[in-house]
Amino acid sequence: MPSIVVHYQEIALKGRNRPWFVSHLVRNIRQATRDLDVASVRALMGRIEIEVRSDAMTAEVSDRLRRVFGIANFSVARRAALDLDEMAAAILRDLEGVETGSFRVSARRADKRFPLTSPQIEREVGGRIKVARGWRVDLTHPELKVSLEILPDQAFYSFEKQRGPGGLPTGGSGRVACLLSGGIDSPVAAFRVMKRGCSVLLVHFHSYPLLSRASQEKVRQIAAILTRYQLRSKLALVGFGEIQRRVVLTVPSPLRVVMYRRLMMRIAQQLARKGHAKALVTGEVIGQVASQTIENLSVIGRATELPVLRPLIGMDKEEIVAEAQRLGTYEISIIPDQDCCQLFTPPHPATKARAADVEAAESQLPIVELVEAAVAAVEWEEFSFPILRTPTMPLTNLTHSRNDEVPGQ
Ligand code: ATP
Ligand code: MG
Repeated sequence: MPSIVVHYQEIALKGRNRPWFVSHLVRNIRQATRDLDVASVRALMGRIEIEVRSDAMTAEVSDRLRRVFGIANFSVARRAALDLDEMAAAILRDLEGVETGSFRVSARRADKRFPLTSPQIEREVGGRIKVARGWRVDLTHPELKVSLEILPDQAFYSFEKQRGPGGLPTGGSGRVACLLSGGIDSPVAAFRVMKRGCSVLLVHFHSYPLLSRASQEKVRQIAAILTRYQLRSKLALVGFGEIQRRVVLTVPSPLRVVMYRRLMMRIAQQLARKGHAKALVTGEVIGQVASQTIENLSVIGRATELPVLRPLIGMDKEEIVAEAQRLGTYEISIIPDQDCCQLFTPPHPATKARAADVEAAESQLPIVELVEAAVAAVEWEEFSFPILRTPTMPLTNLTHSRNDEVPGQ
């Protein structure tokens, strides 16, 4: 039975954080591969071993691992007995028919009780391979790399390391709520905090029925992509049309964008509290649009008591676009829709909204009632990846369902 040996970044793992980190990672790997033919996932002396029931399945499991945060790298590996001759024989058996100009063996001992040091193991096993195949040893630029990991009762050997996505296991850093528009930036912002271990509650504001449902459909597709990383998502669809109508009636046009954003913050804060999220996340960037000056961001941020995280704050548009393309959300984000804010956005928004002016304008509106009405009317949808296939279910590994209940956990 082949195994996949997963390595995580040691750097994040000081002291008592380590078991916490590893148990989250093991749990997430189990969840990400739960519909595949995986026999076991277990922590094993500084690495994680996934036992896969067939060789054919290793490609699919590897594909899933590329999206499990916390994985630095992984390799498809086989076991050998803790004996130099047996290790070399097993490696040579697997390399039958393989040709290479040069090679090297790299060994690591998870168990230092093994009587030889890593360089000695490398020389011994490498020497046997060299004698058998006549290949040249090249320690700096080998064409073929053979890795050996020595554990207490067995060794793993592998030939090719694949990069994982890095980051921290999703869920280990707590929960946040991301304001997710159908645009390019906010999906990348959600992805960034997910990569740092946050599980992300998704909150979208739409103006249906004043506008079409297009933005909701886009956001569902984006939520489905993000769910391939965090495995379970909840999406709150918030009707924002009535609030915009009221703002347009009473608020001077230059202040409206900042007002909308502050109202979004207030609503998102309520939803965050219900969902046990401890911070809000946006895709705002300094100076990207008129509403995103330092002054405006500061006035917007003051509408909530929760910390507002802006992971893209210092990025250029091209950098964000490149990341959205890698993530796969870009093509969805550029589909035209009627953004709820475009409809009501004035031609010349204030670039330096003053808190006093905004607060004066807000005092003309029943803010608390508006926020409460919007929160009460929220529709929740759930997404998960993968779903278990049953004979009656279509062959899809992505699903979402509507749920009017507030998320608990
Ligand atoms: P994006 O591509 O994320 O829409 P943007 O550059 O278009 O960003 P704005 O539309 O000004 O910027 O929005 C700034 C941030 O406010 C967004 O990144 C997002 O976090 C939040 N936001 C804006 N509109 C919505 C919406 N309809 N629903 C949820 N969040 C929104
Ligand atoms: Mg936008």
